[in-house]
Amino acid sequence: MTAPQTGKTNLLALNRPQMEAFFESIGEKKFRAHQVMKWVHFFGVNDFEAMSNLGKVLRTRLAEVAEIRAPEIALQSFSEDGTRKWVVRLDNGNCVETVFIPDGERGTLCVSSQVGCALDCSFCSTGKQGFQRDLTVDEIIGQVWLAHRSFGVPDNRGHRHITNVVMMGMGEPLLNFENVITAMEIMKDDLGYGVAKKRVTLSTSGIVPKMYELYDRIDVALAVSLHAPNDELRNELVPVNKKYPLADLIAACKEYVTKFNDSRRVTMEYVLLDGVNDKFEHAEQLIELLKDVPSKINLIPFNPFPSSGYKRPNGLRIRAFQERLQKAGFVTTIRTTRGEDIDAACGQLVGQVQDRTRRAEQWQAKIQDKHNKKIPLSDASAANR
Ligand code: SAH
Ligand code: SF4
Repeated sequence: MTAPQTGKTNLLALNRPQMEAFFESIGEKKFRAHQVMKWVHFFGVNDFEAMSNLGKVLRTRLAEVAEIRAPEIALQSFSEDGTRKWVVRLDNGNCVETVFIPDGERGTLCVSSQVGCALDCSFCSTGKQGFQRDLTVDEIIGQVWLAHRSFGVPDNRGHRHITNVVMMGMGEPLLNFENVITAMEIMKDDLGYGVAKKRVTLSTSGIVPKMYELYDRIDVALAVSLHAPNDELRNELVPVNKKYPLADLIAACKEYVTKFNDSRRVTMEYVLLDGVNDKFEHAEQLIELLKDVPSKINLIPFNPFPSSGYKRPNGLRIRAFQERLQKAGFVTTIRTTRGEDIDAACGQLVGQVQDRTRRAEQWQAKIQDKHNKKIPLSDASAANR
């Protein structure tokens, strides 16, 4: 928790018990921890001098041993539809992306959990970037902090712009388990971002053992990237399926909802790829697969990126797929594509990843072949425009 660069404790990384322990360790009472959490996460303050209800001595002491340090904003884009995207630069120069999607009273922040992703789903540009590393808690919460601050200081009635958080940015959150849990605790905490438990959603490609652990650790909404109704196709689209096949994944989903013993459902995400997984037979198989799982289905029309090899189905095909599922009794929504003009749509987030798996190089070679021109790796995000 101590930042290697400064030797100070970054308070953005601490959940409530950790913050209390930190204040106890410097000889202060618990309530100080609560005051400081409110300054940090509610008022978006990063300067101890601004914390007017702390005495001068404590403020000076805090500045010596602690810091409130979020990643830097490398780029900020605003879409015509109100969507905002931040490219956030981490200490070692890697970048990840964070997206805010306003929708009436609702404001959803899509947060990244890793630099790149190791799982290499065939239709996902993040996967094509390869994998560099997990984000730390302060880097995950730093994204929420930056977004929250971008709306200015909230008034004292407590109006917040961010009402929902989805762990659907870059990376597989269940493969950065501990950091993601701590970050989600801070998101849910009233002294953190006060997001209701049903409004914090973790999306996973199906890391089955971690799905069982999740229940024991935190109460959040679960979304599963299903994308195919049979193992053969899912092995191709979501390669982690070879390790955790559909029967195990479906069992884990059932157990998750049953254990909570409330009316919750798992959201099944299904990206629609023209001619690949959007046929009538796929809808039929999906209905069979999900018949005993309390679930709702979220269809995501594929968002293209260069050399993906996939196409988005036309509107009629998408509607027909939806209607078949609805007729079978499934609540089925189609995710509207937002922020396309700023490359903020699902699966388009690329950040800037210094890949350790050589996958980005292979992908770059593929694009190069196609366009017969060199795209520098450092410019990989431009390939997405
Ligand atoms: N790794 C996690 C969370 C991040 S991906 C997961 O896979 O669930 C967030 C969602 O965007 C997932 O459902 C993912 O499958 C979807 N997605 C990825 N690439 C996409 C693309 N090109 N078009 C549309 N959705 C995509
Ligand atoms: Fe990783 Fe999710 Fe993209 Fe698959 S869809 S490569 S799990 S980020």
